[in-house]
Amino acid sequence: MKRYFQKDIETAPVDWIKSLQKEKLIKQVKYVYDNNKYYHRLMDEKGVTPDDIKELSDISKLPFLTKNDLREAYPYGLLSAPLKDCVRIQSTSGTTGRRVVAFYTQHDIDLWEECCARAIVAAGGTDEDVVQVCYGYGLFTGGPGLHGGSHKVGSLTIPMSSGNTDRQIQFMRDLGSTILCCTPSYAAYIGERLREMGCTHDDIRLKAGIFGAEPWTEEMRRDIEAKLGIKAYDIYGLTEISGPGVSFECEEQNGMHINEDHFLAEIIDPDTGEVLPEGEEGELVFTSLDKEAFPLLRYRTRDLTVLTREKCSCGRTHIKMMKPKGRSDDMLIIRGVNVFPSQIETVLLKEGYTPNYEIHVDRIANEDTFDINVELSEEQFRQIKDNDEAAKKALTGAMVKMLGIRPKIHLLAPKSITRSEGKAVRVIDKRKLHD
Ligand code: ADP
Ligand code: ZN
Repeated sequence: MKRYFQKDIETAPVDWIKSLQKEKLIKQVKYVYDNNKYYHRLMDEKGVTPDDIKELSDISKLPFLTKNDLREAYPYGLLSAPLKDCVRIQSTSGTTGRRVVAFYTQHDIDLWEECCARAIVAAGGTDEDVVQVCYGYGLFTGGPGLHGGSHKVGSLTIPMSSGNTDRQIQFMRDLGSTILCCTPSYAAYIGERLREMGCTHDDIRLKAGIFGAEPWTEEMRRDIEAKLGIKAYDIYGLTEISGPGVSFECEEQNGMHINEDHFLAEIIDPDTGEVLPEGEEGELVFTSLDKEAFPLLRYRTRDLTVLTREKCSCGRTHIKMMKPKGRSDDMLIIRGVNVFPSQIETVLLKEGYTPNYEIHVDRIANEDTFDINVELSEEQFRQIKDNDEAAKKALTGAMVKMLGIRPKIHLLAPKSITRSEGKAVRVIDKRKLHD
């Protein structure tokens, strides 16, 4: 079976990759300087010219780009190719504010789709597979990215988009889908709905899932794998850099290989901007190496992760990023303590609860309130509905141990929490409204 989509590149010696990156970086910086007034100005302000970029490490001389720059430059400020050469726009989901628009030439689309094709092959996909894409189609990059990747692999592609879960399951059964692509929260919901319809995973032919676009935990992975009887692979990306497929998991399911021939990754201290050595946790920064329409140099993703170049058993040599913990702006500071939603998800699933939860934070009389609504499964509901104090106490204890602060736990009846078909909204922070 084919194990790689582009074997020579995916398994190239690290030195070769680094020299390719150097060559491409020098070109890309010059290209951006010559074709983009916005970044040209940022470089001038920092007193750096393309001639200063001779080695990979010289990248640290370049200015950062942030989401604010992208918003300020909206819509055409960071476009670096003539509009007539562009064939597509896509846009961010707007999870954290005003949308950002990214442009693509046909070369950029091909590059992006090839990255997605690498992810599909890494998950065991071939031209004999039936790939059901239920990421949203449209401006969101999830649907179009995996769709294009699936075409490149030659798989039979079902462009379902998200929603209408019963129809998703019917197609999955009728057409024998073997690979499912969607957000992990939607995959969990599809698994739940499958059971409700009286089906087991023997009624479907799925073997793998490629899930991303939002943070998810190892516990969530096990939950989805059990529900759907598949191997669940992580995929990461962001519209600004191209879309899904910037990095993807291999059979080792332990970190995502970054497509280093196209994207150069750095980890920085989010407070000082200082570049951190490999193995340290910090903010992920990307530089595109060969994009035409929307090349970004040193773009700060706000995603927190760790990079590692440890040898991977799959044979790929590209550097790996560990599962992002969430964005720096997903982190909640409650009563002075840092809390990530992913920590709460870990505790819930470890303690045998469903992955359906909501975190409510508010500030009342100058004091932060912290409530977690947890939905019970039918079985748990029957068992503990008349006396849930003991269950609440045990769960609160587990949360305190993980988080260092005490939430108020509310156990809710099955089906009380709205299911997500795309990116799940798990945090409702009302303090922002008072600011
Ligand atoms: P928006 O920023 O509006 O959500 P995108 O749809 O482009 O726009 O989302 C990109 C972001 O989604 C990433 O920066 C990251 O925070 C998150 N993301 C994407 N894939 C993953 C993943 N596999 N794990 C964790 N977070 C992810
Ligand atoms: Zn690997």
